[in-house]
Amino acid sequence: MLALVKAAPGPGLSLEEVPEPSPGINDVKIRVRKTGICGTDLHIAAWDAWAAKAIRPPLVVGHEFVGEVVEVGSNVYDFHPGDIVSGEGHVTCGVCRHCLAGRRHLCAHTQGLGVDRDGAFAEYVVLPVTNVWHHWPRIDEDVAAIFDPFGNAVHTALSFPVLGEDVLITGAGPIGLMATAVARHAGARYVVVSEPNARRREIAGRMGATLAVDPGERDLADVQRELGMVEGFDVALEMSGAPAAIRAAMDNMAHGGSIAVLGIPTREITLDVNEIVFKLLTIRGIYGREMYETWYKMTVMLQSGLDIRPAITHRFPFQAYELAFATAASGDSGKVIMTWSPQADG
Ligand code: NAD
Ligand code: ZN
Repeated sequence: MLALVKAAPGPGLSLEEVPEPSPGINDVKIRVRKTGICGTDLHIAAWDAWAAKAIRPPLVVGHEFVGEVVEVGSNVYDFHPGDIVSGEGHVTCGVCRHCLAGRRHLCAHTQGLGVDRDGAFAEYVVLPVTNVWHHWPRIDEDVAAIFDPFGNAVHTALSFPVLGEDVLITGAGPIGLMATAVARHAGARYVVVSEPNARRREIAGRMGATLAVDPGERDLADVQRELGMVEGFDVALEMSGAPAAIRAAMDNMAHGGSIAVLGIPTREITLDVNEIVFKLLTIRGIYGREMYETWYKMTVMLQSGLDIRPAITHRFPFQAYELAFATAASGDSGKVIMTWSPQADG
């Protein structure tokens, strides 16, 4: 089969013929239809310091996908050829304290699809049955392809109650954009988005942001005055990884406010702990998705009117992967989708 491969240490990816994976007794084999490009894939393609440490080539990359089940192992009873599924990209150990208690998102021994094991930028991918999610019939397959980052957005946005609250989102990449729509859908009063990129601010407006501001041009205290806010933000979702963004959030929180941190800084950052103490702030790190409460919430929010499609800005066939990766890396895009095989009904 054809797959996008990190063949050897160093920059770049190549489209190569590799052996088709075959399922073990507890596995599901999936024909990939559509995939999403994630920041992680860009890091692996560019071969930055993180990738050089984390990745052992050769490796098929990619973890955001939707596809169709084509074969199941002999122990698998609840998936069948033809089912439309996505994969939870965190393959957990299954035997640690948290896994046994059903808190698999807290497993300390997680293996990443397309990071630690062969991934989904391929014509076929194999995953343990415990990592496969059934979609409901007639789901939009572009949306299904990005359930993984949509799950990051939902996990973060719902980690603190937002009904009636004023929410700050720092960073309107694909995940911040989806989180904007989720916070709106979940009943926030104001959703203020802080993002330097003008194209992304414009999309944030279409995702339901009350205001989308450039942090280089506008102070959040000024935004609060414009909106008539008097207490500060109740909830902040940090989705940029930028030191200035988390500091600006801390400066503008209400007393007792909560900050969910998803963004991954590329280096250590200094924070004023006095602000955390005297404002009684709660700061929570977010990694991945809750298995499978987040997946359930994604599904039912889509069924009750949540629309994340404006966050998808580009679609390419997999053969145009170089253009797809360049578009995603430009920062001037929302989510970029690559198609691997067309839907049966066209
Ligand atoms: P992205 O890089 O596309 O988006 C980050 C955005 O932050 C960009 O649009 C950028 O312009 C903006 N930004 C930069 N400086 C800023 C500042 N000072 N204030 C406000 N915004 C600023 O990334 P993404 O794919 O949307 O992911 C968001 C973050 O979450 C990234 O840091 C990513 O590495 C991380 N991530 C974490 C997990 C997890 O499980 N914790 C999973 C996926 C991604
Ligand atoms: Zn575990």
